[in-house]
Amino acid sequence: MDMPIKANRAKRTRKPKHRVVTRAFDFPMEVNARQNDRLWMHVGACWRLRNLLMADRIDNRETNKLLKQQGETDLRYLTQSDQYAAIHEYVRHDTALSKAHSQVRQNVAVRVDAGYKRFFEALKEGRTNVYPPKFIERKKYRSITYPQYGPAAKIKTGKLNLSGLGEFRVFDYCKIKGKPKTVTVKFKQGRWHCIITAEAQEKDVVDLLRPDDTRPDAEFDTGLTALLTDSEGNAYNPPKAWYDYRARLRIAQKKMSRQFEAREKKYEILAAQAKAEGRPVSPLKDIPYSNRLKAQIKVVAKLHTKVDNIRDHHHKKNASVVASRYRKSAVEEHAVQFMIRNRKLAKVATDRAIHKQKLLLKSKLGKRYIAVPNQTENGGNSQTCTCGAPVSKELKDRIHHCPVCRLTAGRDHVAANIVSIIAFGIASLTLGVGHTLRRPGRSSSDVERTKRCAAKAACASWKASRL
Ligand SMILES: [Zn+2]
Repeated sequence: MDMPIKANRAKRTRKPKHRVVTRAFDFPMEVNARQNDRLWMHVGACWRLRNLLMADRIDNRETNKLLKQQGETDLRYLTQSDQYAAIHEYVRHDTALSKAHSQVRQNVAVRVDAGYKRFFEALKEGRTNVYPPKFIERKKYRSITYPQYGPAAKIKTGKLNLSGLGEFRVFDYCKIKGKPKTVTVKFKQGRWHCIITAEAQEKDVVDLLRPDDTRPDAEFDTGLTALLTDSEGNAYNPPKAWYDYRARLRIAQKKMSRQFEAREKKYEILAAQAKAEGRPVSPLKDIPYSNRLKAQIKVVAKLHTKVDNIRDHHHKKNASVVASRYRKSAVEEHAVQFMIRNRKLAKVATDRAIHKQKLLLKSKLGKRYIAVPNQTENGGNSQTCTCGAPVSKELKDRIHHCPVCRLTAGRDHVAANIVSIIAFGIASLTLGVGHTLRRPGRSSSDVERTKRCAAKAACASWKASRL
């Protein structure tokens, strides 16, 4: 008997309607001495595995290099799946490694592969000063990842269950938004943290751009004196966390340093004794830390954590104020590394953490964040006037004075207006004389709209002169 022919209908597919965004949730863990040992044992095993896999990759590359020189064309490079197979072999000889969860072990190969991918990408882009991944020190490897949230790694009623490690108390102070994907256990700032990444639809975590949104648009200049300055001249100037704590940090760090010196002196005496008696001299790292030194390391770590937390709190606060007050926000894109490389600015630039603030703004605003390029040929938006004339300033010059249009205003204030002109084609009235181009907010009245068009036309010529 013939089967009835089904009607030709479109195949049903499940597509997410909104962009998916990944968010990380970082919770501190409560870990006792036994659990701490167990965690370090697992991390240590993964570190050994990582360096073994890395050695394989380096060998492979070297062999291929030689073969290439001999004119061989059929070269075989190690892949992630090759390394998965190699892990099976390594596990047999390492009891600590065999206790780790299989996916945690495989994730080590994923990390090695990701490192190589980044390296090849950099080569492709023609970036200079890039090197292939290399071996890392024991103390620099301090995290393991469970790539699947589920039976092997899961949070339930304040307890984190990790396969092969047991149960840990977690301070999960907020609800995880979205679908949890991975669990990473990481030692940072003197304690263990559990970092859970979750995927969520963008509409659930950020306020999307809506056509009926009547809030005004804003533009920001980022800087070291005031972290953010908008085009109306308002500054978002959170406390400089490290600067406020530097006296306390200096005292605590000096004390810790003295205790490290005492340890070295003790070692020198012991080494001299051993030499005199003809015994082999053990390395310095075998001398245990004294209880006082351990306590002092904790004091320093706590102060640094506090500085970090204060900075983070204010960055988040700024981001949420900006997100609730404005519709779109334009921020100038510029490199920050050069400030950190400058010896005189390094401390204050690190304390301000401009890049972190931008990342938080981006994550809070989604598509409402507009990255404005640093377009001038004169070397930065702060080196021009809103009239288009170049006004060169050094970093210490905080007041902008234009010899062409006689505009005098705060340096950051003018820079924010340049950002505004590039992003929205309009400057703010707060700049005063000669600058009647006003950002009219989001009103739909005809008068305002005409004003806006006129302002845009005036700015078009200004823009054309710059490009
Ligand atoms: Zn001017």
